[in-house]
Amino acid sequence: MSYIIAVANQKGGVGKTTTAVNLAASLSAMRRKVLLVDLDAQGNATMGVGVDKASLKVSARDVLVEAARAADAIQSLGELKFSLLPANSDMTEAEIKLRDQPAGDFALKTALADVADQFDYMILDCPPALSKLTLNALVAADGVLIPMQCEYYALEGLSALHDTIRKIRRVINPRLEIEGLLRTMFDPRNNLSNDVSAQLLLHFPDKVYRTVIPRNVRLAEAPSHGLPVMVYDAQSSGARAYLALAGEMLRRHDGGQLQLDS
Ligand code: ATP
Ligand code: MG
Repeated sequence: MSYIIAVANQKGGVGKTTTAVNLAASLSAMRRKVLLVDLDAQGNATMGVGVDKASLKVSARDVLVEAARAADAIQSLGELKFSLLPANSDMTEAEIKLRDQPAGDFALKTALADVADQFDYMILDCPPALSKLTLNALVAADGVLIPMQCEYYALEGLSALHDTIRKIRRVINPRLEIEGLLRTMFDPRNNLSNDVSAQLLLHFPDKVYRTVIPRNVRLAEAPSHGLPVMVYDAQSSGARAYLALAGEMLRRHDGGQLQLDS
């Protein structure tokens, strides 16, 4: 069975895609079978692993609203050793069509169930909105990973997301947990970042990952090469941080037999 993690935050540019791509790569470096699912019309996760979003034969849109099989859309990524369910701007149409489908909130869950036996982890990269696509992700997921920039408005957005998660848990998916809050683009020299970080630890002591993702230029450069950071620059602080995050997650889930590929 696979464990499904939605990487979600309705706030834009907080590091969702960077986290989804690099967590997928890190878990796969730890010998887990991983599927990265792009649910965003921007197709950033798709491009970030080197797949041309303009030439997709079958995409997440077809799986969600045309009953295409997930297996037909999934691409294995060769040397990256994990798989991708890709997306592009067609997802905008999926978002609208899903609103009219009676079982529209369950489309992703149903599609992923068909391939669940092939993966240990599925990582869902959500768009920056509490939209039908994000809802689909939260219905399908076991856990939500919330990347956050430690800045003034971060906590405000968190409460809206928290309300949505609570509602989904009550009505549709009682399994759904907050997997963890991840501090991203962290700059320890910034007083505000430190204050917000301290607030997070105070209010959600069990939910904040101990791993902090630093601001690191290699993380911003890697997608333009179509590579996760641990392939682009394995020694960078960004690569080390995402490997540490995967390690922390595996320790929480299964006591983690951490076997790094050499
Ligand atoms: P959107 O809401 O648009 O989907 P997002 O939440 O997925 O955005 P990303 O695309 O991951 O956010 O990151 C936003 C920008 O910040 C990107 O240019 C990315 O390369 C850069 N970035 C993300 N994390 C870091 C980091 N730790 N250090 C430096 N740059 C980063
Ligand atoms: Mg994104």
